[in-house]
Amino acid sequence: MVLDVNWAVRWLTLCAQAMAEHRVWLIELDRAIGDSDHGENMDRGFQAVLEKLAEAQPETPGAALKLTAMTLMSKVGGAAGPLYGTAFLRASTALGDAAEIDPGSLADALVAARDGIVARGKAESGDKTMVDAWTPAAEAAQAAVADGTGTVLGVLVAAAEAAEAGAVATDPLVARKGRASYLGERSAGHRDPGAASSALILRAAVGAAA
Ligand code: ADP
Ligand code: MG
Repeated sequence: MVLDVNWAVRWLTLCAQAMAEHRVWLIELDRAIGDSDHGENMDRGFQAVLEKLAEAQPETPGAALKLTAMTLMSKVGGAAGPLYGTAFLRASTALGDAAEIDPGSLADALVAARDGIVARGKAESGDKTMVDAWTPAAEAAQAAVADGTGTVLGVLVAAAEAAEAGAVATDPLVARKGRASYLGERSAGHRDPGAASSALILRAAVGAAA
């Protein structure tokens, strides 16, 4: 499996499909502890990404991710737009103009994405945000390349599984950042919508490579 620009475009296409498919679920999650707009925001944002990709026809994975970052920043409102915009932009910068992504640079890009979200939102692990999906994902990616035998598919699977577990683990947490933190203790017992959408995005990355 080669992670080139065709993979990146497949990934972003699967992201758009996942957001359309899970739009109502993400709205329900955000209704419980936020303002019900997350599913709508993500669906609209990734549909716009598909339009931009078709227009611009980027030549590298990094260029595709940069276009995604710019589009999400301008089209996705709320907290998630700038956070995902920063994540995709940092990942794009980490990849540079390479035509293909190797396992090490894939893990570096995932770490860069997580670091961008943390720099932007100042959330820590356990605050019940998308960081709770991205930090385990980035760490699992690093662990998957640590012994030098990791493949790109192996890194993606490790990241997606860790993100899914991290999203599920937000259920009992009390939110300490973002809109859900206004609810205090009442935010416990619900999955964080941004952690849920982050897991969908990383699962789509596996689907594009499988
Ligand atoms: P808003 O809360 O402005 O309506 P969205 O509903 O689109 O924005 O996104 C909410 C998600 O954004 C939350 O579920 C959480 O994962 C994420 N989020 C909010 N604030 C932060 C933050 N400071 N750091 C990281 N993630 C955050
Ligand atoms: Mg919201």
